Amino acid sequence: MKTAGNPDCLFCKIASGEIPSESVYSDELVYAFKDIDPKAPVHILVIPKEHIVSAAEISPENSKVISRIFEVIAHLSKELGLDRGFRVVTNCGGEGGQTVYHLHFHLMAGRPMKWPPG
Ligand code: AMP
Ligand code: ZN
Repeated sequence: MKTAGNPDCLFCKIASGEIPSESVYSDELVYAFKDIDPKAPVHILVIPKEHIVSAAEISPENSKVISRIFEVIAHLSKELGLDRGFRVVTNCGGEGGQTVYHLHFHLMAGRPMKWPPG
């Protein structure tokens, strides 16, 4: 299968299907899958299929996918019955806690969330 975007990027390989994942949503712009190491009963990663490094690289040229990502998150919240609430997080850069350098939004739910995050 063809790898979109950066050939060295784990999430580009997941988005293209080259590396398997537990898919929960896919369209022409967005892919969502279960986090391999969940930190909440529901822990889904929502990513652009296009390689964008992080929130720091969002620009007028690539930002259309961000609104689609949040449409997908709203859709998933209804589909999964997350009516008690959920959290959406994007970690950006080293001190922000980012470990995979392909933009992703953590959709987490199923337990009370603490504030502020650590
Ligand atoms: P971050 O630390 O914010 O960059 O988030 C990266 C997330 O990717 C972590 O929550 C990891 O558990 C998750 N992750 C890493 N590799 C995989 C994989 N192969 N499939 C699903 N999730 C993964
Ligand atoms: Zn990528």
